[in-house]
Amino acid sequence: MLIERDGFVGGTSTAGLVTPFMKYWIDDGTSRRPLVAGIFAELNDRMIAAGGMVENGFSPTAFRRVAADLLADAGVTILVQTMITDVLRSGKTLRAVSVHNGVSGRTLSASVFIDTTGDGDLLFLAEAPWKKGDEKTGLLQALTMFFRVGGIVMEDVVQDVARRPGQFFDWSTKKFVPGQIVSVAGYHEVVERAKQRGALADAVQYFFFTSLPASGEGAFNTTNILGLDGSSSVELTRAEISGRRQVTQVVALLKSECSGFQHSYLIETGIQVGVRETRRAVGDYVMTGGDIRSGAKFPDAVARGNYGVDIHGQKDEKSVMEYLREGDYYEVPARALFVQQTENLLTAGRSISSTREGQAALRIQATAAATGEAAGVIASQSLVYNGTVRSVPYASVRGVLSKSGNV
Ligand SMILES: Cc1cc2nc3c(=O)[nH]c(=O)nc-3n(C[C@H](O)[C@H](O)[C@H](O)COP(=O)(O)OP(=O)(O)OC[C@H]3O[C@@H](n4cnc5c(N)ncnc54)[C@H](O)[C@@H]3O)c2cc1C
Repeated sequence: MLIERDGFVGGTSTAGLVTPFMKYWIDDGTSRRPLVAGIFAELNDRMIAAGGMVENGFSPTAFRRVAADLLADAGVTILVQTMITDVLRSGKTLRAVSVHNGVSGRTLSASVFIDTTGDGDLLFLAEAPWKKGDEKTGLLQALTMFFRVGGIVMEDVVQDVARRPGQFFDWSTKKFVPGQIVSVAGYHEVVERAKQRGALADAVQYFFFTSLPASGEGAFNTTNILGLDGSSSVELTRAEISGRRQVTQVVALLKSECSGFQHSYLIETGIQVGVRETRRAVGDYVMTGGDIRSGAKFPDAVARGNYGVDIHGQKDEKSVMEYLREGDYYEVPARALFVQQTENLLTAGRSISSTREGQAALRIQATAAATGEAAGVIASQSLVYNGTVRSVPYASVRGVLSKSGNV
């Protein structure tokens, strides 16, 4: 059973409108060899078939529908509009979760549980060990309210980039090719001038969007919300309000000052502000920044990735964006999914057992999908061992995951 507090599945990918998949492939110059395949590839294939993808950019509405279809085809019972509010535990065993779904409180028991709430809600409610924030400063990454804009003339935008490269990050798209994603970041002078006259929040550093499959649409990863903790509703309330204020400012500036945006309009903001970092599990293995940088390999590998450490800094904190050498990749061990002090709880996705730096690389969508698939395989195989996840022989987990192409 999949329990979800929103009315649809997908989380940050759909409710948060985070619509480009960051790098999960090795580029050998002529082709891309994916490090994550399996269910994630099925999702991609079905979105392509539905016209919902342009390269690694996807339509959030296509994702919602396709992901629900995949779950239904796999025989998963989905319970949406349902919030997990408590965990019943005896000793090291989780017995049940309490849920609230608008009608009444209910208790749902299971043999094995997977925490993919992003915020580690199950870990927290089960009083399992977790960490939050930078090991020295306690800082958490900045939050961002994504938004979707329509009516963009992409050809004009990329011509502007080609004409005034100093105003943009050098990796911005300079040539429009139909069927290829447009990725543009910068507008440095527009941003600085607007801040000076008070037309833009100080925290915004640049405008950044990637194009979406529908013609003339872009998803903006631009707002920058500082100093708030995404695992607190009180602070999230401030983030939601401040994020939507920033959206209004950016949309007005795009329309009045940026080439290709004269007839643009706001389609929607994320249903929820995007949260990059909150609780991380303390598992049997803790993935570190060193593991990411060195391309660590493990005897119990269940997932792979090659995205580097990417920290969106707070005020007075330097942002970090590192890249692995092309061809390198790291593995994620099963032990990073096993939560200490519990025997039938796994975690995957954003709350995986890691240091702050490790999490800053592992948090991207493809890796979250790969660790989620691995947790699902281990959970299902653990049923013959009463849900004790460490009893599952690694060879049989590897058998399934290597067939799916994830290890
Ligand atoms: C602003 C921003 C930009 C990003 N940019 C990129 C990018 O460009 N490319 C990329 O690949 N990655 C990007 N990421 C990272 C990536 O999107 C996320 O880390 C990833 O999607 C997290 O997936 P998840 O499944 O672990 O958690 P989530 O997507 O957060 O899913 C958790 C789900 O659990 C549900 N839930 C939570 N608590 C409860 C509860 N108590 N009861 C019931 N349901 C609950 C939520 O509603 C949600 O659906 C970005 C993230 C952010 C925030």
